[in-house]
Amino acid sequence: PVRVRFAPSPTGFFHIGSARTALFNWLYARHTGGVFVLRIEDTDQARNSEAFLNVIYDSLTWLGMTWDEGPKVGGEFGPYRQSERGPIYKEYLQKLTDAGRTYEKDGAVWFKLIGDRSEVFDEHRQKTVTKVAVAPSVIDDQIRGRVERIEDEDFVIFRSDGNPVFHFVNVVDDIAMKITHVIRGEDHLSNTSKHVELFKAFGAPMPKFAHIPLILKQNGPGKMSKRDQGALIEEYQNKGYLPEALVNFLSLLGWSPKDDREKMAIADIIALFDFPGINQSNARFDEKKLAHMNMAYLLELPVDDFVARARAYFEKHNVTSPLSADAAYLRDVLLISQPKIKSFEELPAYTAYFFTEDFTIDAKVRDKVMGKGEPQARMAELTETIATADFSSDTAIEEAIKALAVSKGLGFGDYQSVARLAVSGTNVGPSLTGMFRVLGRERVLSRFARLAA
Ligand code: GLU
Repeated sequence: PVRVRFAPSPTGFFHIGSARTALFNWLYARHTGGVFVLRIEDTDQARNSEAFLNVIYDSLTWLGMTWDEGPKVGGEFGPYRQSERGPIYKEYLQKLTDAGRTYEKDGAVWFKLIGDRSEVFDEHRQKTVTKVAVAPSVIDDQIRGRVERIEDEDFVIFRSDGNPVFHFVNVVDDIAMKITHVIRGEDHLSNTSKHVELFKAFGAPMPKFAHIPLILKQNGPGKMSKRDQGALIEEYQNKGYLPEALVNFLSLLGWSPKDDREKMAIADIIALFDFPGINQSNARFDEKKLAHMNMAYLLELPVDDFVARARAYFEKHNVTSPLSADAAYLRDVLLISQPKIKSFEELPAYTAYFFTEDFTIDAKVRDKVMGKGEPQARMAELTETIATADFSSDTAIEEAIKALAVSKGLGFGDYQSVARLAVSGTNVGPSLTGMFRVLGRERVLSRFARLAA
């Protein structure tokens, strides 16, 4: 059976690139009915932190990437934190030593390549090094095809402080955990020749390698880094993005179903996900595309679900007035806002005027609206119409305003901006008639009066 692993080092916040690597592994496991292993590569004591580790657990869980084996859930091949696997590494080191493949120098343990040796002056490093005449390692990469790399120098596998080096623990664990496919970022391709030599030295079956393309930053050349705008998964969680939208977006960073489809249910992504669909060329991060994806998912949420998630967002961020409002009223407010927002983050400001009479008037909008045409006259006409209009539905309200407009030889638009300004203090928001209906005649009229005063 397919066994893949996501092997993060908890040395920084969980970012878009890590999440994408985790996702591709998870998708491949789900596509093949295989096993998704979470392994924590935390041998670098100085740089690891428990806080970063918790962010990894939280983010994976939030995104729905549940792991079949790993910390918290256990499994046959644990422990799954490298910091707890010291005895296993000693055991594997012994195997190499017994096979005559190690030696000590300067207190460190080195891995010995097999082949003729010669001393060569390395221009780049400005020192003499020992080169070993070896055949190139051939990597049959699932994405990049045949890749040849040469590893012609011995390398350290245990430092003088007694800690094992990344290449060693990474390969030992892939062997011990019976990993069949190594799916990771292309930045690791340069390590693969070392890994291939270690697999061979252990006489272990070689996993299949799949090096996935890099993610470029939104603007300009270069790889996206943790410090780039929009890089951290937590930010999206805090902004109230929908995890299913983020997962869909991440799936398209380097993979496509080979047709024009972008918005896809997770079941479809799982069904279609495979190595041939992964591009060789780099993917570019596009925050706008993510925002649109989120909006498309929000639009589709069943109302009750939308309301529940909006409430959760308000609770998390201590936005109290919607929560203390009448539940049916809040639901109505959310119902007319749902088609218009890109993320829950927008909701508090977007809906503020539904919950207070003391809402902010956008000065720029006011100056613009009040500075052209005859806004006071429109306001007076609208006041008269609204006082007696049928408020039973949005269409009824709309008809009343249209009839007014026709009688004055004007259009609906001539009343729209000033009415919006009066009831909401701004020029963006849910449909005007929806706002009127939800606020109710009394409040609409009193807000009209306030603007006219
Ligand atoms: N700990 C490595 C990293 O964070 C894992 C590399 C691999 O997947 O083999 O990049």
